[in-house]
Amino acid sequence: ILYNQVLDLKGAIRVYCRVRPFSPGQSNEQSTVDYIGENGNIMIVNPLKQGKDARRVFSFNKVFATSATQEQIYADTKPLVRSVLDGYNACIFAYGQTGSGKTYTMSGPDLKTEETWGVNYRALRDLFHISKERATAIKYEVGVQMIEIYNEQYVHSLTRYTLDIRNNSQLNGLNVPDACLVPVNCTQDVLDLMEIGQRNRAVGATALNVRSSRSHSVLTVHVRGKEIESNSVLKGCLHLVDLAGSERVDKSEAVGERLKEAQHINKSLSALGDVISALAQKSPHIPYRNSKLTQVLQDSLGGHAKTLMFVHINPEINSLGETISTLKFAERVA
Ligand code: ADP
Ligand code: MG
Repeated sequence: ILYNQVLDLKGAIRVYCRVRPFSPGQSNEQSTVDYIGENGNIMIVNPLKQGKDARRVFSFNKVFATSATQEQIYADTKPLVRSVLDGYNACIFAYGQTGSGKTYTMSGPDLKTEETWGVNYRALRDLFHISKERATAIKYEVGVQMIEIYNEQYVHSLTRYTLDIRNNSQLNGLNVPDACLVPVNCTQDVLDLMEIGQRNRAVGATALNVRSSRSHSVLTVHVRGKEIESNSVLKGCLHLVDLAGSERVDKSEAVGERLKEAQHINKSLSALGDVISALAQKSPHIPYRNSKLTQVLQDSLGGHAKTLMFVHINPEINSLGETISTLKFAERVA
Protein backbone atom coordinates (compact mmCIF):
# COMPACT_ATOMS: atom_id res chain seq x y z
CA ILE A 1 0.00 0.00 0.00
CA LEU A 2 2.81 2.30 0.90
CA TYR A 3 4.39 1.33 -2.41
CA ASN A 4 1.35 2.46 -4.37
CA GLN A 5 1.22 5.71 -2.49
CA VAL A 6 4.79 6.39 -3.45
CA LEU A 7 4.75 5.34 -7.06
CA ASP A 8 1.22 5.95 -8.26
CA LEU A 9 1.53 9.69 -7.79
CA LYS A 10 2.82 10.19 -11.31
CA GLY A 11 1.59 7.01 -12.92
CA ALA A 12 3.32 3.70 -13.42
CA ILE A 13 6.28 5.04 -15.38
CA ARG A 14 9.01 7.10 -13.83
CA VAL A 15 11.89 8.58 -15.77
CA TYR A 16 15.10 9.67 -14.11
CA CYS A 17 17.96 11.38 -15.88
CA ARG A 18 21.57 10.84 -14.79
CA VAL A 19 24.46 12.97 -15.99
CA ARG A 20 27.79 11.18 -16.29
CA PRO A 21 30.81 12.99 -14.85
CA PHE A 22 33.67 14.02 -17.13
CA SER A 23 36.50 11.52 -17.12
CA PRO A 24 39.47 12.45 -14.92
CA GLY A 25 41.69 14.94 -16.71
CA GLN A 26 38.96 16.03 -19.07
CA SER A 27 38.17 19.72 -19.07
CA ASN A 28 34.57 20.42 -18.13
CA GLU A 29 34.53 23.99 -19.39
CA GLN A 30 32.32 22.99 -22.25
CA SER A 31 29.66 20.99 -20.48
CA THR A 32 26.38 20.85 -22.35
CA VAL A 33 24.50 20.76 -19.04
CA ASP A 34 23.72 24.35 -18.16
CA TYR A 35 21.45 23.89 -15.21
CA ILE A 36 19.75 21.17 -13.14
CA GLY A 37 16.62 22.17 -11.22
CA GLU A 38 15.30 20.66 -7.99
CA ASN A 39 12.02 19.83 -9.69
CA GLY A 40 13.34 17.45 -12.34
CA ASN A 41 14.29 20.04 -14.96
CA ILE A 42 17.52 20.00 -16.87
CA MET A 43 18.72 22.75 -19.21
CA ILE A 44 20.96 21.72 -22.08
CA VAL A 45 23.10 24.33 -23.75
CA ASN A 46 25.06 24.38 -26.96
CA PRO A 47 28.21 26.21 -25.80
CA LEU A 48 29.05 27.13 -29.37
CA LYS A 49 25.76 28.94 -29.95
CA GLN A 50 24.36 32.24 -28.71
CA GLY A 51 20.82 33.34 -27.97
CA LYS A 52 17.75 31.47 -26.89
CA ASP A 53 18.10 28.76 -29.53
CA ALA A 54 21.21 27.61 -27.72
CA ARG A 55 19.21 26.39 -24.73
CA ARG A 56 16.54 23.82 -24.19
CA VAL A 57 14.79 22.54 -21.04
CA PHE A 58 13.63 18.95 -20.48
CA SER A 59 11.54 17.68 -17.55
CA PHE A 60 11.62 14.34 -15.77
CA ASN A 61 10.68 12.88 -12.40
CA LYS A 62 14.19 13.62 -11.20
CA VAL A 63 17.56 14.64 -12.56
CA PHE A 64 20.77 13.41 -10.95
CA ALA A 65 23.85 15.59 -11.29
CA THR A 66 27.33 14.16 -11.80
CA SER A 67 27.89 14.09 -8.04
CA ALA A 68 25.05 11.60 -7.39
CA THR A 69 26.17 8.45 -5.61
CA GLN A 70 25.13 4.92 -6.46
CA GLU A 71 23.11 4.91 -3.25
CA GLN A 72 21.18 8.05 -4.22
CA ILE A 73 20.48 6.61 -7.65
CA TYR A 74 19.10 3.45 -6.07
CA ALA A 75 16.97 5.11 -3.37
CA ASP A 76 13.64 5.12 -5.23
CA THR A 77 14.06 1.55 -6.44
CA LYS A 78 13.52 0.01 -3.05
CA PRO A 79 9.68 0.31 -3.07
CA LEU A 80 9.74 -1.45 -6.42
CA VAL A 81 11.72 -4.36 -4.96
CA ARG A 82 9.22 -4.61 -2.14
CA SER A 83 6.35 -4.74 -4.63
CA VAL A 84 8.00 -7.67 -6.44
CA LEU A 85 7.99 -9.56 -3.13
CA ASP A 86 4.29 -8.67 -2.84
CA GLY A 87 3.68 -10.41 -6.18
CA TYR A 88 3.94 -7.58 -8.72
CA ASN A 89 6.15 -7.30 -11.78
CA ALA A 90 8.57 -4.46 -12.46
CA CYS A 91 11.10 -3.31 -15.05
CA ILE A 92 14.10 -1.08 -14.62
CA PHE A 93 15.84 0.18 -17.75
CA ALA A 94 19.12 1.95 -18.42
CA TYR A 95 18.97 3.97 -21.64
CA GLY A 96 21.60 6.13 -23.32
CA GLN A 97 24.40 6.23 -25.87
CA THR A 98 27.43 3.98 -25.45
CA GLY A 99 29.74 5.44 -22.81
CA SER A 100 27.01 7.43 -21.03
CA GLY A 101 27.04 5.27 -17.88
CA LYS A 102 24.30 2.64 -18.32
CA THR A 103 26.41 -0.27 -17.08
CA TYR A 104 27.79 1.92 -14.29
CA THR A 105 24.23 2.53 -13.05
CA MET A 106 23.02 -1.05 -13.37
CA SER A 107 26.12 -3.06 -12.42
CA GLY A 108 28.66 -0.54 -11.17
CA PRO A 109 32.34 -0.14 -11.96
CA ASP A 110 33.61 -2.77 -9.57
CA LEU A 111 31.62 -5.67 -8.16
CA LYS A 112 34.12 -6.19 -5.35
CA THR A 113 33.24 -3.02 -3.47
CA GLU A 114 29.68 -2.89 -2.21
CA GLU A 115 29.73 0.90 -2.07
CA THR A 116 29.94 1.17 -5.84
CA TRP A 117 27.42 -1.58 -6.53
CA GLY A 118 24.82 -0.60 -9.08
CA VAL A 119 21.05 -0.98 -9.04
CA ASN A 120 21.13 -4.73 -9.86
CA TYR A 121 23.04 -5.81 -6.77
CA ARG A 122 21.41 -3.31 -4.44
CA ALA A 123 18.00 -4.55 -5.58
CA LEU A 124 19.01 -8.16 -4.99
CA ARG A 125 20.51 -7.33 -1.61
CA ASP A 126 17.24 -5.68 -0.53
CA LEU A 127 15.19 -8.47 -2.01
CA PHE A 128 17.00 -11.09 0.04
CA HIS A 129 16.94 -8.85 3.07
CA ILE A 130 13.18 -8.24 2.94
CA SER A 131 12.45 -11.90 2.18
CA LYS A 132 14.39 -12.90 5.31
CA GLU A 133 12.45 -10.37 7.39
CA ARG A 134 9.23 -11.99 6.23
CA ALA A 135 10.51 -15.55 6.62
CA THR A 136 8.17 -16.49 9.47
CA ALA A 137 5.12 -15.66 7.33
CA ILE A 138 6.20 -16.32 3.75
CA LYS A 139 8.70 -18.78 2.33
CA TYR A 140 10.38 -17.28 -0.74
CA GLU A 141 12.23 -18.93 -3.59
CA VAL A 142 14.32 -16.72 -5.87
CA GLY A 143 15.72 -17.59 -9.29
CA VAL A 144 17.50 -15.56 -11.94
CA GLN A 145 17.71 -15.67 -15.70
CA MET A 146 20.30 -13.86 -17.76
CA ILE A 147 19.69 -13.26 -21.41
CA GLU A 148 20.88 -10.90 -24.09
CA ILE A 149 19.02 -9.76 -27.14
CA TYR A 150 21.34 -9.37 -30.09
CA ASN A 151 20.11 -8.78 -33.63
CA GLU A 152 16.57 -9.65 -32.57
CA GLN A 153 17.66 -13.02 -31.19
CA TYR A 154 17.68 -14.20 -27.59
CA VAL A 155 21.06 -15.40 -26.39
CA HIS A 156 21.71 -17.04 -23.02
CA SER A 157 24.32 -14.92 -21.19
CA LEU A 158 25.99 -17.88 -19.53
CA THR A 159 26.06 -20.50 -22.27
CA ARG A 160 25.86 -18.16 -25.31
CA TYR A 161 23.21 -20.45 -26.77
CA THR A 162 20.51 -18.94 -28.93
CA LEU A 163 17.08 -19.37 -27.40
CA ASP A 164 13.51 -19.55 -28.59
CA ILE A 165 10.67 -17.72 -26.99
CA ARG A 166 7.88 -19.80 -25.58
CA ASN A 167 5.42 -19.75 -22.76
CA ASN A 168 6.91 -21.28 -19.68
CA SER A 169 4.16 -22.68 -17.50
CA GLN A 170 6.61 -23.14 -14.64
CA LEU A 171 6.90 -19.38 -14.56
CA ASN A 172 3.21 -18.69 -14.42
CA GLY A 173 2.92 -18.40 -18.18
CA LEU A 174 5.31 -15.47 -18.27
CA ASN A 175 6.45 -14.89 -21.77
CA VAL A 176 10.13 -15.52 -21.17
CA PRO A 177 12.54 -17.42 -23.35
CA ASP A 178 13.44 -20.87 -22.18
CA ALA A 179 16.62 -19.73 -20.49
CA CYS A 180 17.43 -21.80 -17.47
CA LEU A 181 16.25 -20.37 -14.21
CA VAL A 182 19.06 -20.60 -11.69
CA PRO A 183 18.00 -20.78 -8.03
CA VAL A 184 19.85 -18.26 -5.85
CA ASN A 185 19.96 -17.71 -2.10
CA CYS A 186 22.00 -14.56 -1.72
CA THR A 187 23.52 -11.69 -3.68
CA GLN A 188 26.86 -13.50 -3.79
CA ASP A 189 25.25 -16.35 -5.78
CA VAL A 190 24.26 -13.81 -8.41
CA LEU A 191 27.71 -12.19 -8.40
CA ASP A 192 29.22 -15.64 -8.95
CA LEU A 193 26.93 -16.21 -11.92
CA MET A 194 27.89 -12.85 -13.36
CA GLU A 195 31.52 -13.84 -13.10
CA ILE A 196 30.89 -17.06 -15.01
CA GLY A 197 29.13 -15.04 -17.69
CA GLN A 198 32.04 -12.61 -17.84
CA ARG A 199 34.57 -15.46 -18.10
CA ASN A 200 32.65 -17.01 -20.96
CA ARG A 201 32.64 -13.66 -22.64
CA ALA A 202 36.38 -13.20 -22.25
CA VAL A 203 36.82 -15.56 -25.18
CA GLY A 204 37.29 -13.11 -28.01
CA ALA A 205 37.08 -10.28 -25.53
CA THR A 206 37.35 -7.32 -27.84
CA ALA A 207 34.73 -8.51 -30.25
CA LEU A 208 32.33 -9.35 -27.46
CA ASN A 209 32.95 -6.12 -25.58
CA VAL A 210 32.07 -4.18 -28.65
CA ARG A 211 29.09 -6.42 -29.11
CA SER A 212 27.91 -5.92 -25.55
CA SER A 213 27.06 -2.30 -26.35
CA ARG A 214 25.00 -3.58 -29.27
CA SER A 215 22.93 -6.04 -27.31
CA HIS A 216 20.29 -5.56 -24.64
CA SER A 217 21.17 -7.37 -21.47
CA VAL A 218 18.24 -8.57 -19.37
CA LEU A 219 18.68 -9.89 -15.85
CA THR A 220 15.36 -11.25 -14.60
CA VAL A 221 14.73 -12.07 -10.96
CA HIS A 222 11.78 -14.41 -10.40
CA VAL A 223 10.26 -14.57 -6.96
CA ARG A 224 7.85 -17.20 -5.70
CA GLY A 225 6.44 -16.82 -2.21
CA LYS A 226 4.33 -19.30 -0.32
CA GLU A 227 2.35 -18.03 2.64
CA ILE A 228 2.95 -20.46 5.45
CA GLU A 229 -0.47 -20.20 7.06
CA SER A 230 -2.73 -20.13 4.02
CA ASN A 231 -0.47 -22.01 1.57
CA SER A 232 -1.34 -19.43 -1.07
CA VAL A 233 1.36 -18.66 -3.61
CA LEU A 234 2.40 -15.32 -5.03
CA LYS A 235 4.73 -14.70 -7.96
CA GLY A 236 6.53 -11.58 -9.05
CA CYS A 237 9.45 -10.70 -11.25
CA LEU A 238 11.90 -7.89 -11.68
CA HIS A 239 13.61 -7.23 -15.01
CA LEU A 240 16.86 -5.29 -14.88
CA VAL A 241 17.69 -4.13 -18.38
CA ASP A 242 20.95 -2.61 -19.61
CA LEU A 243 19.88 -1.49 -23.09
CA ALA A 244 22.03 -1.41 -26.21
CA GLY A 245 23.66 1.95 -26.97
CA SER A 246 21.08 4.33 -28.42
CA GLU A 247 23.51 6.21 -30.72
CA ARG A 248 22.47 6.59 -34.29
CA VAL A 249 24.82 5.10 -36.80
CA ASP A 250 25.77 7.11 -39.83
CA LYS A 251 24.06 5.24 -42.66
CA SER A 252 26.66 6.36 -45.16
CA GLU A 253 29.41 4.78 -43.08
CA ALA A 254 27.91 1.64 -41.59
CA VAL A 255 27.82 -1.41 -43.82
CA GLY A 256 27.23 -5.13 -43.44
CA GLU A 257 27.05 -6.47 -39.87
CA ARG A 258 27.37 -3.03 -38.33
CA LEU A 259 24.45 -1.65 -40.29
CA LYS A 260 22.34 -4.70 -39.49
CA GLU A 261 23.06 -4.35 -35.76
CA ALA A 262 22.22 -0.66 -35.87
CA GLN A 263 18.94 -1.31 -37.60
CA HIS A 264 17.97 -3.96 -35.04
CA ILE A 265 18.83 -1.64 -32.14
CA ASN A 266 16.90 1.26 -33.67
CA LYS A 267 13.92 -0.94 -34.24
CA SER A 268 13.84 -2.39 -30.73
CA LEU A 269 14.46 0.90 -28.93
CA SER A 270 11.74 2.64 -30.87
CA ALA A 271 9.43 -0.32 -30.21
CA LEU A 272 10.17 0.11 -26.51
CA GLY A 273 9.44 3.83 -26.75
CA ASP A 274 6.18 3.10 -28.58
CA VAL A 275 5.05 0.63 -25.91
CA ILE A 276 5.89 2.87 -22.98
CA SER A 277 4.30 5.95 -24.50
CA ALA A 278 1.18 3.95 -25.48
CA LEU A 279 0.97 2.81 -21.85
CA ALA A 280 1.46 6.35 -20.57
CA GLN A 281 -1.34 7.56 -22.83
CA LYS A 282 -3.55 4.66 -21.75
CA SER A 283 -3.94 3.65 -25.37
CA PRO A 284 -6.22 0.62 -25.98
CA HIS A 285 -3.62 -1.03 -28.22
CA ILE A 286 -0.12 -1.62 -26.86
CA PRO A 287 2.26 -2.74 -29.62
CA TYR A 288 4.24 -5.35 -27.67
CA ARG A 289 4.86 -7.63 -30.62
CA ASN A 290 7.05 -5.26 -32.62
CA SER A 291 10.34 -6.36 -31.04
CA LYS A 292 11.90 -9.21 -29.10
CA LEU A 293 12.59 -6.83 -26.23
CA THR A 294 9.00 -5.71 -25.71
CA GLN A 295 7.78 -9.26 -26.29
CA VAL A 296 9.88 -10.71 -23.49
CA LEU A 297 8.88 -7.91 -21.12
CA GLN A 298 5.21 -7.89 -22.07
CA ASP A 299 3.87 -9.14 -18.74
CA SER A 300 6.00 -6.66 -16.86
CA LEU A 301 5.11 -3.52 -18.83
CA GLY A 302 1.67 -2.12 -18.14
CA GLY A 303 -1.11 -3.57 -16.02
CA HIS A 304 -0.10 -3.50 -12.37
CA ALA A 305 3.59 -3.55 -13.27
CA LYS A 306 5.86 -0.61 -12.54
CA THR A 307 8.50 0.80 -14.85
CA LEU A 308 11.47 2.91 -14.01
CA MET A 309 13.83 4.25 -16.63
CA PHE A 310 17.22 5.80 -16.02
CA VAL A 311 18.29 7.83 -19.03
CA HIS A 312 21.96 8.66 -19.22
CA ILE A 313 23.69 11.55 -20.83
CA ASN A 314 27.31 12.37 -21.39
CA PRO A 315 27.91 16.13 -20.88
CA GLU A 316 30.71 16.36 -23.46
CA ILE A 317 30.14 18.74 -26.31
CA ASN A 318 30.85 16.00 -28.85
CA SER A 319 27.83 14.13 -27.51
CA LEU A 320 25.41 17.05 -27.80
CA GLY A 321 23.46 15.56 -30.70
CA GLU A 322 23.02 12.23 -28.92
CA THR A 323 22.19 13.99 -25.65
CA ILE A 324 19.33 15.86 -27.30
CA SER A 325 17.95 12.72 -28.94
CA THR A 326 18.26 10.75 -25.69
CA LEU A 327 16.33 13.43 -23.80
CA LYS A 328 13.70 13.63 -26.54
CA PHE A 329 13.20 9.88 -26.32
CA ALA A 330 12.93 10.09 -22.56
CA GLU A 331 10.46 12.96 -22.68
CA ARG A 332 8.28 10.94 -25.04
CA VAL A 333 8.00 8.07 -22.57
CA ALA A 334 7.79 10.19 -19.40
P1 ADP B 1 27.72 2.47 -21.07
O1 ADP B 1 27.37 1.20 -20.38
O2 ADP B 1 26.55 3.40 -21.23
O3 ADP B 1 28.38 2.24 -22.39
P2 ADP B 1 29.64 2.76 -18.95
O4 ADP B 1 28.78 2.51 -17.78
O5 ADP B 1 30.49 1.65 -19.41
O6 ADP B 1 28.77 3.28 -20.19
O7 ADP B 1 30.49 4.07 -18.65
C1 ADP B 1 31.54 4.53 -19.49
C2 ADP B 1 32.73 4.95 -18.63
O8 ADP B 1 32.37 6.05 -17.78
C3 ADP B 1 33.21 3.85 -17.70
O9 ADP B 1 34.61 3.96 -17.60
C4 ADP B 1 32.54 4.20 -16.38
O10 ADP B 1 33.27 3.69 -15.27
C5 ADP B 1 32.51 5.71 -16.41
N1 ADP B 1 31.34 6.23 -15.68
C6 ADP B 1 30.06 6.16 -16.10
N2 ADP B 1 29.22 6.72 -15.22
C7 ADP B 1 29.97 7.16 -14.20
C8 ADP B 1 29.69 7.81 -12.95
N3 ADP B 1 28.43 8.14 -12.59
N4 ADP B 1 30.73 8.10 -12.16
C9 ADP B 1 31.99 7.79 -12.51
N5 ADP B 1 32.33 7.17 -13.65
C10 ADP B 1 31.34 6.85 -14.50
MG1 MG C 1 27.54 -0.77 -21.09
